[in-house]
Amino acid sequence: MKLSFKSTPLQPLHDDLFDELGLKVFIKRLDKMHSHISGNKWFKLKYNLQEAEAKGHDSILTFGGAYSNHIAATAAVGKINKIKTIGIIRGEETLPFNPVLKFAKKNGMELFYLNREQYRLKNTDEIIRELENRFDKFYLIPEGGANVLGVKGCTEIIDDIGIDFDYIFSECGTGTTLAGLSLSLKNHQLALGIPVLKGAQFLEQDIIRLMTDYKLEFGEMNDASDHINKFKLIYDYHFGGYAKSTNELDLFIAEFIKKHGVIIEPVYSGKLFFALFDMAKNNYFKPNSKIVLLHTGGTSFVNQ
Ligand SMILES: *Cc1c(COP(=O)(O)O)cnc(C)c1O
Repeated sequence: MKLSFKSTPLQPLHDDLFDELGLKVFIKRLDKMHSHISGNKWFKLKYNLQEAEAKGHDSILTFGGAYSNHIAATAAVGKINKIKTIGIIRGEETLPFNPVLKFAKKNGMELFYLNREQYRLKNTDEIIRELENRFDKFYLIPEGGANVLGVKGCTEIIDDIGIDFDYIFSECGTGTTLAGLSLSLKNHQLALGIPVLKGAQFLEQDIIRLMTDYKLEFGEMNDASDHINKFKLIYDYHFGGYAKSTNELDLFIAEFIKKHGVIIEPVYSGKLFFALFDMAKNNYFKPNSKIVLLHTGGTSFVNQ
């Protein structure tokens, strides 16, 4: 497997607000991991790639929307490791390709489209059988890398943080990253998740299921009950839903980039960073808390 690990910086985030409240805030720059396999995608794909290779597969099939960072990352991983990739994309083909799909294609990914109705059924035996008939044998990675091997990779994010902290923050799509984080926390630590989807209350059960499956497969214990209190989802910062934004969020992002020189964007990291400042203002955190924000990337296709 040629997906080499690279240690990424833990960068202090200074702001008068945090000084006033006595908070110590750090950004874990997972976005610096790789230009297109950024952040959590590297961790979610690591063991999946190993498994595909161990089982002798020469192709990987996965799913995503037309703007999916997971699709781009999988294509890049395939190219580096000389393993064929197939991307099953939600919706109709639209030409010319957007930057994500253009990148996927350039990295050798074969693209195939399912209409929204079929896409909704993508995990059913019927659709999988159809895909098997069309593409022959492949290693399947669920949408967003949301399986136990994805979780296993994400349990290792904390190993490279190097300080003791009270809170670790991540935005959530499938919640796989938050599941991995939660499983690796100490007793006094809490993982806070900011869903970027509207009405994402289902995520809580999804995360518990991922943690339970992980424990059954790799853990000494039989369930995840000792870890389900290790995460909390904050539903107030979706800004209207996936890839939706507001003037307030756009303004916050522009000011943040100008002040701190760290690129964030409106789909994921912008919502996370906004949440931190807003929760701090509302005295969510006790004085002297140490807070780590995961910057999980998603910026490679910004401004293209
Ligand atoms: C894919 C992605 C996420 C979603 O991670 P999950 O593990 O699915 O919750 C969050 N942030 C960025 C930048 C991503 O690319």
